[in-house]
Amino acid sequence: MENLVTDLDILDHNNTQACDTVKKTEELNTGKGRKLYIESYGCQMNFSDSEIVASILHNEGFDTTSDIEKADVVFLNTCSIREKAEQTVRHRLIHIKGLKKHKPELLVGILGCMAERLKTKLLEEEKLVDLVAGPDAYRDLPKLIGQVDEGDRAINTFLSRDETYADVTPVRLNSNGVTAFISIMRGCDNMCTFCVVPFTRGRERSRDPQSIVAEAQDLFDKGYREVTLLGQNVDSYKWSPEENNKVWLEKKGITNTVTFSMLLEMVAQVNPALRIRFSTSHPKDITDDVLYTMARYDNICKYIHLPVQSGNSRILEMMNRGYTRERNSW
Ligand code: SF4
Repeated sequence: MENLVTDLDILDHNNTQACDTVKKTEELNTGKGRKLYIESYGCQMNFSDSEIVASILHNEGFDTTSDIEKADVVFLNTCSIREKAEQTVRHRLIHIKGLKKHKPELLVGILGCMAERLKTKLLEEEKLVDLVAGPDAYRDLPKLIGQVDEGDRAINTFLSRDETYADVTPVRLNSNGVTAFISIMRGCDNMCTFCVVPFTRGRERSRDPQSIVAEAQDLFDKGYREVTLLGQNVDSYKWSPEENNKVWLEKKGITNTVTFSMLLEMVAQVNPALRIRFSTSHPKDITDDVLYTMARYDNICKYIHLPVQSGNSRILEMMNRGYTRERNSW
C-alpha cells in the first residue's frame, strides 16, 4: 500500500472548491417562452445541480440566459459553508431588488444549501424572494414556479431518502466541451463537527452506476475527453438495485453492492481515450481497491484530492473525522 500510494504521486494542494466562486448560466436560445438565469455559488456539487435545474426547466419551456436583466426567473443556487458565502447572497439580493422594481413580474428563487438551512426563515427575512427550494426538491420546481405564477410564495425543503436525479441529463453550463462533471452521489453521513453538509444535503445516496456509465458514454460521444466523478465522499459510494441509501443498505444487511472501485472501473472502460478524475476522497473511506484500480487503468488520472484536514490526532478527534494521524500516516 505504501509503495502504491507513493507511485500514485498524491499531490498536496489547497481545496479548490472555493466558496467564493460564482458561475452563471449561459445563453441558450431554442425559442422557448421564458428565460431562466441561475447564479451558482460554492462547490462543484452546486454547479452540477444548477445543470440539473436548467435541464428540468428546459423541459418545461425555459431557455437560459447569461444576462440577469433579460431573465424572467432568477435563481441563486447558494452555499452555506461559511457565513461570508451567505452574506454574498444577501448582498446580491439587494441588487436584484433594484431589478424587480423595474420588472415586478420577475420571479426570484433561492436554491441550495442556504435554502435548506434557513427554510421559511428566508421567506420571512427576504420579502423579495418568491421561491425557496432545497437540493432534493428540484423536480418540484415547475410546480413551485406555477404556485408563484398564481400569486403565492412557494417552498419545498424536504430532504429525500433516495433522490439522485439519475434520469436527468444535465444541460451543460459553462462548458468547454472537453471536461465535464458527473454527479455520482448526494449527501453525506459523516457528521464532521465543522460541516453543514449532512444538514443541508441530507443522507448519503448513490446513483445507479448504469446511468453514470451512460452519461460518461454520452459525453464521450459528444467530444468530451475528461470526466470528474463527483460526490461529497466518493469513496463511500455504494449502490444496489434494491437500495441506494447507505444507511438503509446497512440496516437491510445488503452486501452485494457496487462499490466506488467497481464504479471507477466501469467508467474507465467506457473508452481508453476518456480521462477519469474523481473528487472528493476521504482518508477514512478510501480503499486499496480504489488505488489498485487507478494503477490498472492508464486513463484514470493519478491524482487524489484527499482533504486530511489536520495532522494532529486530538484535532482530528474534535473534528469527528474518524481517523488518526498514526493510523493514516502516509
Ligand atoms: S466528509 Fe466532507 S461533506 Fe461529509 S461531513 Fe465531513 S467535511 Fe462535510
